[in-house]
Amino acid sequence: MISLKRNSKTGELVKATGVTSQKFRIYTPNQNKDFTLSRSRFDDFMTCERCFYLKVNKGFMSPSTPGWTLNTLTDTLLKKEFDECRAKQIPHRIMTKYNLRDLVPYASEKIKGKNGSDKLLLDEWRDSLHYGIKHRFKDTNIILQGGVDDVWFNTKSKELVIADYKSQHKKDEVSQDTYFDDPYKEGYQRQLDYYAYILKGMGYKVSSDAYFYICNAKEVDQGFHGKMLFDEVLIHYKIKTDYLEDEIQKMIDVMNSSEIPNFHESCENCAYARQRSVIDKL
Ligand code: SF4
Repeated sequence: MISLKRNSKTGELVKATGVTSQKFRIYTPNQNKDFTLSRSRFDDFMTCERCFYLKVNKGFMSPSTPGWTLNTLTDTLLKKEFDECRAKQIPHRIMTKYNLRDLVPYASEKIKGKNGSDKLLLDEWRDSLHYGIKHRFKDTNIILQGGVDDVWFNTKSKELVIADYKSQHKKDEVSQDTYFDDPYKEGYQRQLDYYAYILKGMGYKVSSDAYFYICNAKEVDQGFHGKMLFDEVLIHYKIKTDYLEDEIQKMIDVMNSSEIPNFHESCENCAYARQRSVIDKL
């Protein structure tokens, strides 16, 4: 995809440098100052250590992509529905459909917002850009951070239940038996594991049961006619956090090294860049 850098306010084309101008986002090996690492950076590490290193230690920026606005909209609308149920502390219709009788949307404690008005702590947990959930990794300077889609509450076990909304289109029916067959779903699973690890670190009791709320857009015979229909499927996931500490430690070791890791030989982006550099030298 061709991506031209523009001023985000005026839309004017500006010079693309390929690196961030925000120096605080660049990690210096063995620095003492606290450094925040988002869930997506951890996912970068698990996918390609080189790309992770170039972003975190060198400030490289991936070309920007257009936002996933349709997916974001389903998230926003679902959040509205869940917030209504949260205020009344009643199960959402999907919980009733799946007979999850002990679950309700989590009504976290109230806190004061910047303008002095009350808001839920959960609102900050969902705002990954400005707050999110955070936990210091052991006695290091690394703060793990992420933004949850939603948290539910098991009224019986008194545990938090992590939920993530996913919008998609697949012709095949979404089912528990096949949902995790796609290799890229590993990233989805890791995402919930990582959130569970942080919330546990923050002192919360977290259920090992987590859920993906899948909104699967249907291809219907009668055409579009201004509306899209979705199947809604709840996929259960068993949280695993036992592998995370080793991986996070490996990630920190990479950050504290001056050696740039190798590229991933299956990566099409790097292959493209290598081919282009051959042409550039001609
Ligand atoms: S292999 Fe791909 S993911 Fe890794 S550094 Fe190259 S472009 Fe990035």
